[in-house]
Amino acid sequence: MTFLSVYRALSKQYGPQHWWPGDTPFEVMVGAVLTQNTAWSNVEKAITSLKQAKSLTAKKIAAMPAPTLAELIRSAGYFNVKAKRLQNFCNWFLQQGGESALRQWDDASLRHGLLSVNGVGHETADDMMLYAFERPVFVIDAYTRRLFSRLELVTGEEGYEVLRHSFETELSKKIIPGDEQVTLYNEYHALIVIHAKDVCRKKPRCSECCLRRQCPAAE
Ligand code: SF4
Repeated sequence: MTFLSVYRALSKQYGPQHWWPGDTPFEVMVGAVLTQNTAWSNVEKAITSLKQAKSLTAKKIAAMPAPTLAELIRSAGYFNVKAKRLQNFCNWFLQQGGESALRQWDDASLRHGLLSVNGVGHETADDMMLYAFERPVFVIDAYTRRLFSRLELVTGEEGYEVLRHSFETELSKKIIPGDEQVTLYNEYHALIVIHAKDVCRKKPRCSECCLRRQCPAAE
């Protein structure tokens, strides 16, 4: 199997995913910070709380007392840490001139800038790059490592950037750079998440898996 053939099989199985679940790019950015180490359903509750408090803007989040913000996002877990990270991000976001200013940045500068924010790691930055700013960056997460190590396309122990480059290098050979690349990376990450959550779980359900015939780890 190759990264591309896995994409084709998952795409055939699940169809278009149209990620990321968020009404605006800024909501996607907030979700990317809140989703660290928690289920998405908990993030949704936190975002709903922010909306109900009419506080889902960078200015309001940055200006709010940290304990108030922590209470609003309590459902997302690690709420004190995440409140601080969210405020760090919002302060940086505002200092740079907000979303429209950041959209003018080239890919490398934007990624470097996001990674400079205390509390924004590779996966969070790349979630924002891909799903909020529509930049061609392949997101690596624990689901990606689990699925592709079982398929023996990676060891699962590689560093984040090594894996990201592996995916981007193979996939970019097959497609036209630009918007189509963004669409492919967007859909592919969403497909990996759905497959790893529902089928290639910690305890895999191989009998339900569309990849089982090619998978060395199939039970
Ligand atoms: S066959 Fe089993 S281990 Fe392999 S990808 Fe499918 S669910 Fe995962």
